Amino acid sequence: MITKFIKRILRRDPMVKHTHASNTGVPKRIPKKSHRIDPHLLSKNAVKVTHTLQQAGYEAFIVGGAVRDLALGISPKDFDVATNATPDQVQRLFRKARLIGRRFQIVHVTFFGKGHPEIIEVSTFRALLDNAGDHVAESGRILRDNVWGSQGEDAARRDFTINAMYYDPSSETVLDYHGGMADMQKKTLRMIGDPAKRYREDPVRMLRAVRFAAKTGFELDNATRAPIEKLGKLLNDVPSARLFDEILKLLMSGYSWRAIQGLKEAGLHHGLLPLLDHILDDGEDSKGANDFVKLALANTDERIQSGKSVSAGFLFATLLWPDLLKNWKTNSSKGMANIPALHDAMDDTIATQSCGMTIQRRFESDMREIWSMQPRFERRVGRYPFRLIESPRFRAGYDFMLLRCATGELNPAIGQWWTDFIAADPTGQDELMASVKNESGNSPGPAKRRRRRKPKSAIPPEGAAS
Ligand code: ATP
Ligand code: MG
Repeated sequence: MITKFIKRILRRDPMVKHTHASNTGVPKRIPKKSHRIDPHLLSKNAVKVTHTLQQAGYEAFIVGGAVRDLALGISPKDFDVATNATPDQVQRLFRKARLIGRRFQIVHVTFFGKGHPEIIEVSTFRALLDNAGDHVAESGRILRDNVWGSQGEDAARRDFTINAMYYDPSSETVLDYHGGMADMQKKTLRMIGDPAKRYREDPVRMLRAVRFAAKTGFELDNATRAPIEKLGKLLNDVPSARLFDEILKLLMSGYSWRAIQGLKEAGLHHGLLPLLDHILDDGEDSKGANDFVKLALANTDERIQSGKSVSAGFLFATLLWPDLLKNWKTNSSKGMANIPALHDAMDDTIATQSCGMTIQRRFESDMREIWSMQPRFERRVGRYPFRLIESPRFRAGYDFMLLRCATGELNPAIGQWWTDFIAADPTGQDELMASVKNESGNSPGPAKRRRRRKPKSAIPPEGAAS
């Protein structure tokens, strides 16, 4: 108690000062019996953070997506805390706390326990910015916003009403400034403030609208949906790294297929997101591509919903595969040898994407590994299968190959052969390899390719040297 008192006296910087008179209204206080949040779904570490801050005399709440998920009865994947303490003040209260970022200065408080360390992101209430001064670009896009404000202002800056609720674990009360709880009951996703203005400030909010609608199954409120069609082009101004992060979140939401349909319905199509072009395309040409991508996305959604991990490299490898196949075939038809044709096609496929968003390096190398493994699955004699199994990314390459089998692009017997081969003992493996040698024609590629019998078909005949 005394140390706490001394700490308070010695605290050097003042508590956050409000930069505007609070013009953002009084929150509705929602008691436990109405919001029914189950405290068991809370992260103990997040509660530790709000407690520590409150004990030191600050206000602190769990905020944003975590409150939304809690109110939906879902276990949040991460917890954000909002407080009126400044980042410096927060940092002083925790042993493992790091200041992050310049544009949005926040504090990461890390907890080490069993399993993965947990990071609780703590941010200081931010002020609303007026439309003047150097914070706002001509288009209305917000450039800098490290101005502290009141909780009401902080709430008004958030995107959707259901993302702007504050939960105090000590009193188990939700503070709701924008009718988020009522919108939850109506299953409506509603932008706070004037939607067109909010999209101009940050066009990524259009993608967030689609993502949250897909994830929650809520409907976009009419006024929230209406401006998107016209303003979609503003996504062109968003730095490609940010666009990439948001698309990644959308694809990894566990509802990627629904989200992609949502993008299409919202008119956020072609050219904006080249990666998704063929998925959004309805043309007959893209039917096969669609089947493959659809299956890959369904597979990803299922994995994520059941709590399994998904590698972004794998996911992008699947999304770009139809493109890659096309380029590979074109190269082969020009007479290029099979494996150089594949590598050249990889370069082309990846380069095409850079007009919209840059695929990050670490994903790029995963993608290349997965792709270049594919022809090797058809060489099932000699030392080839053993070498392939030893590749560090074999599992990803194998899963990818199974997807190709599932859509009929590759003979399903090959997928089965590998599944058996992985499980077999050395004698069984020898028998499996012998069975390949005995296969008639010794070319288990797709029927179409088998008939062509060209030395430079898109998928090399088995045993072909690279
Ligand atoms: P997720 O489940 O994807 O983590 P989330 O709602 O927590 O969803 P975050 O990106 O983690 O999304 O952001 C946390 C909170 O910060 C949001 O709930 C919202 O209140 C606010 N926020 C995030 N991005 C924006 C934005 N572009 N504009 C306005 N508010 C935002
Ligand atoms: Mg979050």
